[in-house]
Amino acid sequence: MMQDLKLYENFVKACQNCTKCDLAKTRTNVVIGRGNNINAPVMLVGEGPGEQEDLTGLPFVGRAGKLLDHLLNALIFSPEDYYICNIVKCRPPNNREPTREEAEACLPYLRFQVRYIKPKIIVCLGGTALRYIVGGDARITKVRGNWVDRPGFFRIMPTYHPAAVLRDPSKKEELYQDMKKVKEYLDSISS
Ligand code: URA
Repeated sequence: MMQDLKLYENFVKACQNCTKCDLAKTRTNVVIGRGNNINAPVMLVGEGPGEQEDLTGLPFVGRAGKLLDHLLNALIFSPEDYYICNIVKCRPPNNREPTREEAEACLPYLRFQVRYIKPKIIVCLGGTALRYIVGGDARITKVRGNWVDRPGFFRIMPTYHPAAVLRDPSKKEELYQDMKKVKEYLDSISS
């Protein structure tokens, strides 16, 4: 276990010192992950840090994050159940979408997080997470709410990004229903 913690500490240090893409030049903080259980069964993956996240070093702490926290509380997820992170760990200027080079430079860090945390469920929050985790060119509007299985590893639930719900509140019910499926599956494997 001590060995494991050391591994995670080294990973954090590697992220903090990372200069594999140009986002390193403009970041304030590297945004690695948040959650108080390093073996959380659910991993939620967004796109990349925004302004508040860059300033605090924590993912999903701005308006979209508040909406996400509210939803997780409403569905009675325990804070032990989830770990939140992003496809890229440094803020893209003006919150633009990360480029493919930026995402690919950063993906080994996310792969480490998946190997280390070993989630049973990965939630792709929005199209960017879907693109890099599931692959292909499926649209989030088409595939959201449908499980993608990686047998022996985890199940993936694609859903809307909470920022998309802030822009278009009519999507809120679908995000809620998708997260409800995640909670029901989590309960079924926990009991
Ligand atoms: N949007 C994201 O995709 N990630 C964050 O951490 C915050 C907003």
